[in-house]
Amino acid sequence: MGATGCGKSKLSVDLSIACGYEAEIINSDKMQLYRGLDISTNKISIPERRGVRHHLLGDLDPADGELTPADFRDLAGAAVADIASRGKLPVVVGGSNSFIYSLLVDRSGPEDRVSPQLRYDCCFLWIDVAFPVLCDYLCRRVDEMVETGMMEEMADFYSSESWPGRTGLLKSIGVPELEWYYKMGDDEGGWDTVRRSVYEDAVRKIKENTCRLAERQVGKIMRLKSGGWDLHRVDSTDVFRERLRAEDEAEEEEEELVMMTAAAESGGGQQRRKSKIKRRRQWVEVWEKEVMDPSVKIVKQFLQE
Ligand code: ATP
Repeated sequence: MGATGCGKSKLSVDLSIACGYEAEIINSDKMQLYRGLDISTNKISIPERRGVRHHLLGDLDPADGELTPADFRDLAGAAVADIASRGKLPVVVGGSNSFIYSLLVDRSGPEDRVSPQLRYDCCFLWIDVAFPVLCDYLCRRVDEMVETGMMEEMADFYSSESWPGRTGLLKSIGVPELEWYYKMGDDEGGWDTVRRSVYEDAVRKIKENTCRLAERQVGKIMRLKSGGWDLHRVDSTDVFRERLRAEDEAEEEEEELVMMTAAAESGGGQQRRKSKIKRRRQWVEVWEKEVMDPSVKIVKQFLQE
């Protein structure tokens, strides 16, 4: 469990490989359930899945409508039963806490407040990141998404006449914020400055709404915790500090490289690759120490009980 962007998907794959059991992952992010908008919804890529089987990730047609928590309980419950029947370990990962609650809660429990009675034996991990640090990271992630194809993906979405019918994805962050921009079309001639400001405004709103989502998600997790759910909190703030620091360093290095034109022409590419690997190694070390090792310990202990 955890807010958007906190590293749940990575942890789920790392744990599935390290826990000593064969595990399969069930997605519980209500937007990632659907086919499409892979960049904007931040779906884990196939290489990042590292051979671990994923369920309910991009499997549904957004034109079939919005899934309710009760629908998710049925679908994900069937996936849990299927995985368990094959002797494997189900790992549920995703930020939609209403879906997680609906899947796990025992229906005979109280309906008017958080019920601590669950229908499975669960081990909960909550990756927490100090909000200002996470928000800083999320804003940069939006810029990165824009650079790696979010706008093209959204242009495709809006260019299809059937988009209003893809109700499953209409609330996905980026879709409402960019609607006006795509409706303006690109044949407005002298409207360039207007288009630019509409675009900038949309990107600003996407950042704001992503941070707001993260804040709401943490609020819901804390509600579950105070309602009696035994959540193990793992603090990933230092990992994010390290990632942000490494990115700043990369930008500085890039500026230096560009200035040293000769280096950029000859050994520039190689130096960039080396620095990138070194920086990744630095934050991955912190990840292993602060997040991965404590999580493996918690899960192994749970599995032995
Ligand atoms: P709510 O009851 O507010 O829908 P929830 O716990 O069921 O909350 P959340 O995961 O918090 O589900 O999603 C709330 C909203 O956040 C979604 O309707 C959507 O607008 C946005 N959202 C959630 N996940 C994503 C995602 N992966 N990509 C884009 N937007 C998302």
